[in-house]
Amino acid sequence: MSAVPLRNNKAAASGVRAVTVLGATGSIGDSTMDLLRASPERYQVEALTANTNVPALAKLAKEFGARFVAIADPDRLQELKDALAGTRTECGAGDSAVIEAATRPADWVMAAVSGAAGLKPALAAVDRGATVALANKECLVCAGDFFMQRAAKAGACILPADSEHNALFQALGSGNREELVRVIITASGGPFRTWTVADIEQATLAQALKHPNWSMGQKITIDSASMMNKGLEVIEAS
Ligand code: NDP
Repeated sequence: MSAVPLRNNKAAASGVRAVTVLGATGSIGDSTMDLLRASPERYQVEALTANTNVPALAKLAKEFGARFVAIADPDRLQELKDALAGTRTECGAGDSAVIEAATRPADWVMAAVSGAAGLKPALAAVDRGATVALANKECLVCAGDFFMQRAAKAGACILPADSEHNALFQALGSGNREELVRVIITASGGPFRTWTVADIEQATLAQALKHPNWSMGQKITIDSASMMNKGLEVIEAS
């Protein structure tokens, strides 16, 4: 991996940061693209990825002039090529293309694929020594030690994007490691906060998907309703 340049040199020379968003069409991806949209002079989009949503991916690619886009579903390559016809954006399909997106020279990578599928592309970014904003908690849940060792070896900077962990990261930065006694992560209980256990047992999918505060992807919303998300967050924090 050492032959892969860390930075997009043209972007670097102009003071512009080259950015890759893995999972650009999801909830976190959407918020990330909004941030990039707010300061177009500061960022250049190197690569964007999605799983199946070709129309949304192609729309983002055109809006941001992405250099490369990858769709994980290998059967959607032609659809993606058709959607990008007339643009200069290169494209690929399949898991290997998503990894290629992460390997391309962006200074900063948002790892926002949902689930364990996010591990390999995030590792590819880490192995380049990139700055990786980690929303995908599954990287740390599935392979925490391994992931952090690889990051240390490559000199990658992992920035926690999950809100609780980002808050911890900022709080820990204000003191010394020896001062830390205990880390507490709280939970709201999401849509079932005031429900009885008996009522929760009868809950429908639609009720579980109705988080009172946050509009998030379906997996994390269900994980929040079942409190599984808090378990994942404790592992992530460890
Ligand atoms: P979403 O389901 O909204 O988006 C997931 C993104 O990953 C989409 O771009 C999706 O593409 C893509 N994707 C899904 N499966 C695959 C796959 N097998 N291969 C490649 N790409 C895939 O998820 P969220 O944005 O909610 O969550 C992303 C990560 O961030 C999760 O790990 C979650 O736990 C974490 N997180 C999310 C928070 C939130 O507020 N949403 C808060 C804290 C952490 P497509 O659109 O084509 O399906």
